[in-house]
Amino acid sequence: MGDIETDYLVVGAGATGMAFVDTLIAESDANVVIVDRRHRPGGHWLDAYPFVRLHQPSANYGVNSRRLGNDRIDESGPNAGFYERATAAEICDYFNRVLVEDLIPTGRVRFLGMSDYQGTDTEGHHVVSLLTGATTTIKVRRRLVDATYVESSIPSRHTPGYAIDPQVRLIPPNDLVDLDEPAGGFTVLGAGKTAMDTCNWLLDAGVDPGAIHWVRPRDPWLFNRAAMQPLDLVGAYMQMQASWVASAATCVDGASFARDLEDRGVFVRIDSRIEPEAFRGATISLQELESLRSIEHVVRCRVHRIGVRGMATDQGEVETAAGSVYVDCTAAGVRPTVARPIFEGDRMTLQYTTIGIVPWGAATIAAVEARPDDDAEKNRLCPVLAFTGAVADIPTLSLAGMSGLMVRGSDPALSTWAEASRLNPIAGVMNHMDDPRVPAAFETLGANIGPALANLARVTEGEAAGVGA
Ligand SMILES: Cc1cc2nc3c(=O)[nH]c(=O)nc-3n(C[C@H](O)[C@H](O)[C@H](O)COP(=O)(O)OP(=O)(O)OC[C@H]3O[C@@H](n4cnc5c(N)ncnc54)[C@H](O)[C@@H]3O)c2cc1C
Repeated sequence: MGDIETDYLVVGAGATGMAFVDTLIAESDANVVIVDRRHRPGGHWLDAYPFVRLHQPSANYGVNSRRLGNDRIDESGPNAGFYERATAAEICDYFNRVLVEDLIPTGRVRFLGMSDYQGTDTEGHHVVSLLTGATTTIKVRRRLVDATYVESSIPSRHTPGYAIDPQVRLIPPNDLVDLDEPAGGFTVLGAGKTAMDTCNWLLDAGVDPGAIHWVRPRDPWLFNRAAMQPLDLVGAYMQMQASWVASAATCVDGASFARDLEDRGVFVRIDSRIEPEAFRGATISLQELESLRSIEHVVRCRVHRIGVRGMATDQGEVETAAGSVYVDCTAAGVRPTVARPIFEGDRMTLQYTTIGIVPWGAATIAAVEARPDDDAEKNRLCPVLAFTGAVADIPTLSLAGMSGLMVRGSDPALSTWAEASRLNPIAGVMNHMDDPRVPAAFETLGANIGPALANLARVTEGEAAGVGA
């Protein structure tokens, strides 16, 4: 194929790449080429298990310029009382419409699907078609944008880290809906949100809790969905933020931070007897948690091999039901990453700038990129949060997240942009001062933000020096 010239080459058309491009196009005059190995935008959602939904409300997911869903509060089911959450099919359709109906008609965006980005040399950046093998060389005037760095790891594209004997039936959760005969039982492997969704789906479908074995080596801390509500319920989100900052002001390490957030109703866990060791920012409702607690066969071990009679684990042999279907939910979802500067000369690496709400972070980076500032200033405005999945790192994540909110909040142009962004979970908060939780939260935030930043700096310095917990 021929050569292409563009201002930005964005690799990855998942939520991160799409939210970035949408805001960059709105805030600048740039041209963009987006490439992705998949055939359409949407990233991991295109291969997600069929019963997945957003963890968070659709109201602040997607891209800035187009609403996702109808901002409706669900009246029944496990999400009753909370803002609606899109299914994978709705998310994929949404991102495709953003591309086809909004971005491409600007005449400034081109999408190359089924195209693998293979790197750069003196000729330019090389992209190979997965259909024809033809190479396109792309000359980039401004920056290469890596929107794959925080790419999701999902069950249907994941190779399990344990051995499986040939007669064993191991499937990703995607294939549960294709089972055509009753199983002898179900063994769900994994401790994250995918495993929780899978267990709840089985229970909702009428599987007896006693027929489920759940291999859950490390329990996670989870956000209480009640605390993550925007728009008319934004008082809950503000209260969560105030609690977060208050906990940050007094914590001595990640574990005490998390337990304090639990006391304040922000964090929840599946089993009060187990101290969670993981935190990946997933969100769950109390109703879903209650349902999960009905599963009593919880196996706390790491699996080495699955055989017909059971599993070989680091805790010895574990028996499972004959004819059990094993469901692999061990893909990390949100993968651990190492922080690197977002803005670096002729490249950008899109990463988390907020805890959760991935598209909000990506759109914020685009709004910063559209400014005339140099890279040092842009990086100052966008401190990176590196998710390791460890509870011990919650103070480090929080320090980066809160520092970013503070520096961006004190920039008038960025504040004005953020206040008007639908991706911002507290957009429109000033219209809700009649909710007593909102002024109370502002007061708590004002009183605690200074002490919180100072305490987090102490705690994280201590941890870096090896004196933390
Ligand atoms: C089940 C699940 C539910 C989630 N729910 C939420 C939620 O409610 N809220 C939230 O904020 N976050 C949620 N997340 C976190 C999730 O990481 C983000 O929402 C987001 O969808 C991730 O988008 P991404 O673009 O970073 O990665 P991906 O969706 O993985 O997209 C990366 C893209 O890059 C492409 N790519 C990679 N390498 C190349 C290459 N060399 N050449 C070309 N293309 C390449 C891939 O094909 C892929 O399409 C969830 C994650 C999972 C797994």
